[in-house]
Amino acid sequence: MLEINAVAAAVDPLQVRCGALILNAASARRSNLWQRLNVGLNGRLDALETAGEIPRGQGEVCRLDTPEEGIQAQRLVFVEIGERAGISETNVALSRAFESVARVDAVAVALATLPLALEAGTRSTVEAALLSAYRFDRFRTQPPTLGVSRLSRLLLIGGSDEAAAAAVVVVNATNRARDLQNLPPNHLGPADLAKRATVIADNHPRLSVEIHGEDWLRARGWGAFSAVAQGGAGSAKLIVLRHDAASPSRERPVLGLVGKGITFDTGGLVLKPARGLVGMKFDMSGAAVVLEATAAIAELGLPIDVITVVGAAENLPGAGAYRPDDVITARNGRTIEVRDTDAEGRLVLADCLDYVGACGATHVIDVATLTEAAGIALGDTHAALFGNDQAFSDLVRGAGEATGDRAWQLPLTERHRELLASAVADLVNEPARRLAGASVAARFLQEFVGERPWVHLDIAVVASRSSEQAGTGAPGGTGWGVRLLVEAASQLAAAVS
Ligand SMILES: [Zn+2]
Repeated sequence: MLEINAVAAAVDPLQVRCGALILNAASARRSNLWQRLNVGLNGRLDALETAGEIPRGQGEVCRLDTPEEGIQAQRLVFVEIGERAGISETNVALSRAFESVARVDAVAVALATLPLALEAGTRSTVEAALLSAYRFDRFRTQPPTLGVSRLSRLLLIGGSDEAAAAAVVVVNATNRARDLQNLPPNHLGPADLAKRATVIADNHPRLSVEIHGEDWLRARGWGAFSAVAQGGAGSAKLIVLRHDAASPSRERPVLGLVGKGITFDTGGLVLKPARGLVGMKFDMSGAAVVLEATAAIAELGLPIDVITVVGAAENLPGAGAYRPDDVITARNGRTIEVRDTDAEGRLVLADCLDYVGACGATHVIDVATLTEAAGIALGDTHAALFGNDQAFSDLVRGAGEATGDRAWQLPLTERHRELLASAVADLVNEPARRLAGASVAARFLQEFVGERPWVHLDIAVVASRSSEQAGTGAPGGTGWGVRLLVEAASQLAAAVS
């Protein structure tokens, strides 16, 4: 357990007793802190600066042991965070700083040196501490000790206890989403996701859950979701998790969250090549993110009703698997020509999006590892964002910017609808021409959302990272989207109340 304490801003950082004191070199240079540190270090700081050993590049970190009397911290950690750095850059830089003192148990951070306001600085620091300490060692019989965080006490000099407590709720939810993502497909199938949703609901009096199997879906005309489920030997589950904030007014918005929960995607009969199969356990990342974000919304007591819908299934080439050329009828009556059984996510989402609208959602956000095209367009810094209502798209994108889960809006046009034309049905699930794959997939989903404000987040690339990838933190699931969704829910509740 990590104990977090805010320390009054008036307290001199040099007098805080701790194993390590993290401070922003860029800001310290401009203040009298630099001179005081230099005096405390008997002139060593200026000497190191002249020698070019104190970081100057954004996100660089340098550690100094401080046996001197005038400084209570046993180590100083200088991290360079420029004045114009945003939340994301600050998060990454602070994570590196925490990683450099992973074996230290009590760490203090001088928040006044960060280029962020009190609340954002507190949040960024708590997130960096907890996200960088995350490890997934459940399947190692001999967990490594190298690099494992020993942090047990975090002192926020000039921080806010209240903001820290809220940040802990959201970061813990993010790390739980990472756990779900990282679980291998033989340990996390659709039934296990459903079980997790049940545990979440049991933990909060304002949450309730419904789980349905394939018979329920087929009997109610969920033809698109059912088609994908066919190859998976009856394992598919529909999960509906509701947060009832007991809103006094019916005028309040109801947020619908929809997550893609393909616990393993082989591509179905259009089987992926061997290399394309590795990592397909992450195809349930959207589901993990919406479920854990809903838990955090309940834990924080946000004044907003939420209906979270997850379509959980395995996309397998089983004996009953659906075929290319099949024509299926979605829950909303639209007919779909299947051209590619690997474009299964949009089929599952189609019925879930239609359903969440029928349940009364006034605003909908779906989160899905949908297309590689999103990653080809934007790389691993931003998810792709699409929407049918600019004000709501701006709210969601802004929530991402404010929390470090960044998204970039891509176009959604009638030209993309034309590409989905079918010779035999209302639309195809994947056009023959490979143009604007992420936009076309989003435009497919739009056929199932009606007129209500809706945002689609394609997280195919940002949901997970490989060991080789640049950045910080453990490889595997990133929990991308939990922070964004909680912030968006909070802003939506505030905007209308
Ligand atoms: Zn697929």
